[in-house]
Amino acid sequence: MSFKERSETLELQFLRSLNARTELAEKDDQRFHNLTKGYEGELMFDRLTEKMECPSYLLNDLLLESNGSKFQIDTLMIMQEPFYLFEVKNYEGDFYYENGRFCTLSNNKEIKNPLLQLERCDSLLRQLLQNLGYRVAIQAYVIFINPRFHLYQSPLNKPIIYPGQLPHFMNKLNRKMSTLNGRHKNLAEQLVAMHQTESPYEKYAKYTIDRIEKGVICASCHSFKVCCYDRHLQCEVCGHREGIDEAVIRTVKEIKLLYPEHKITTNEVFEWCEVVDSKKRIRRILQQNFNGTGKTKGFFFE
Ligand SMILES: [Zn+2]
Repeated sequence: MSFKERSETLELQFLRSLNARTELAEKDDQRFHNLTKGYEGELMFDRLTEKMECPSYLLNDLLLESNGSKFQIDTLMIMQEPFYLFEVKNYEGDFYYENGRFCTLSNNKEIKNPLLQLERCDSLLRQLLQNLGYRVAIQAYVIFINPRFHLYQSPLNKPIIYPGQLPHFMNKLNRKMSTLNGRHKNLAEQLVAMHQTESPYEKYAKYTIDRIEKGVICASCHSFKVCCYDRHLQCEVCGHREGIDEAVIRTVKEIKLLYPEHKITTNEVFEWCEVVDSKKRIRRILQQNFNGTGKTKGFFFE
């Protein structure tokens, strides 16, 4: 079991909701696609590290700061020396390596060099650990997790693990002897406490609330084609069913996710949850699940 679980970043949740409700600018759409793909890859890697029996503190997804620079760790394994640092890449398709560059084979487009990313992360982590009084060896690897990834002219002697090498690599790692002590735990706790959350709001401020489509979307496929029955909502596209209370609560949370500064009034929730067609019911759900403040018309929920 991991010491720190991975969860979707605020930015990914935010972009998913936005993507369902408005047309994303091309750049933001690309970002959404990359984040989704990256997250899927990280979850694939988590399924491997979860099975490890070798004693370690497994920290997934940390956003840390060291000497004024922020850096993102996909996976850190704290154990008896060395520690292991992993940068997980879910690249798919054919790539080639030339003069220190990674390019796509189909159109020779250079992509971000994951080795440089790893090096930066490794160096900043090392500095951070030193500042905390830990001088430990770190072994850092780029993990290419996708079985449909191939790198032509792959460089020798670089810290890269390819999909085909993963089972053997994980086995070897799992056979390591490791004894954990209080200092390890202490460090794991310190790093988790230092984890930061990045706010996406400034970056996407142009998607104002009047630009997006209101309404309840399906929790599974995010379509608007949701119908209301006696006690549940059902999606016409994927068939997903959800209780009315759950759907209303989820939608209010979604408005809060998209616009945390916005004060949500009862009338607004009626508007968003129009499909439910019973104001009485929505009011009851709001009163039971959220704290209201203000007077009748200006009543809003926190
Ligand atoms: Zn659906």
